[in-house]
Amino acid sequence: MKTIICMLAAFCCLCSAASARDKDTRAYKGPIIDMHLHAYPADGNGPAPNAVCPGVAANLQYDPKTPWPAKMGELMTDPPCENPIQGPATDEEVRDQTIAIMKKYKMKGVLSGPAGRIVDWQEAAPDFFIAGRELSLKRDDVSAEEIETEFVNGDFQVLAEVTNQYRGILADDPAFDAYWAVAAKHDIPVGIHLGVGPPGAPMLYPDFRVQTPLQIEAILNRHQNLRVYIMHAGFPFADDMKAMLYLYPQLYVDTGVLQLAAPREDYYAFLEELVRAGFGDRIMFGSDQMNWPGMIEEGINAINDAPFLTYEQKKDILHDNAVRFLRLEE
Ligand SMILES: [Zn+2]
Repeated sequence: MKTIICMLAAFCCLCSAASARDKDTRAYKGPIIDMHLHAYPADGNGPAPNAVCPGVAANLQYDPKTPWPAKMGELMTDPPCENPIQGPATDEEVRDQTIAIMKKYKMKGVLSGPAGRIVDWQEAAPDFFIAGRELSLKRDDVSAEEIETEFVNGDFQVLAEVTNQYRGILADDPAFDAYWAVAAKHDIPVGIHLGVGPPGAPMLYPDFRVQTPLQIEAILNRHQNLRVYIMHAGFPFADDMKAMLYLYPQLYVDTGVLQLAAPREDYYAFLEELVRAGFGDRIMFGSDQMNWPGMIEEGINAINDAPFLTYEQKKDILHDNAVRFLRLEE
């Protein structure tokens, strides 16, 4: 009898070892690439210090008798959650806390922001940052020729974040045609803001309009060698995003701000839909930390805790896909 029990126990042990081998869901602990960092000042989202709650747009119970910017200010000075992500009081702390987290997680990242601040961050942490070139037409008075010159001079490596959407200029707007052409000519990777924005965005930026991933189709069709990644993964338009990823195998996405913008279950449902459709090899980690360095850790943990991702998929998202997209091994 004793022998039989022992044999059964050994058998069960083998079974569970086999199923654990089938689906390895360990957290990924290797080096990480963040495709969506900003060199923000501490007051980049209103008076510093301020804080935000993950799932920021849920259950706001908003009455428009209070102007939206005031309501947003209130949510950030008195965040209605137990563990808000706290931003620091000074610009130096935003930089230094971002760098400290990047050290902890062995990270590199694409950094966008004003040129002077990018240089400052690069000097504070050599080899951590790939220079991005933030661009928002109407706000920034810079021609496509000037962007071309900046790139040729080595001022930046990635044209991101393109935030034209905040000024109502959508991805296929002819006003941006010449810039897309420069990116295609010089093989410049482009990261473009697409999908939604902060809650109540049109009350903060009057020209802001929603756009779905379909808005970029004409551009991808016109410039078939162009390397584009859709920032924020076109959230929440999973169907349109899947259609574009299916039709344009050169297209990638990043996960920037989804750890904050959506309740975690909704972020997971969206991410799982893209992964289930077979696009786990084109999703890149992005934090979009802005003035809240803690967003980086929140974002990494969200990927590592996702119950539907395997270890290999976590590694792809947190590192390998970005290496391929940016051709970092060449
Ligand atoms: Zn964005």
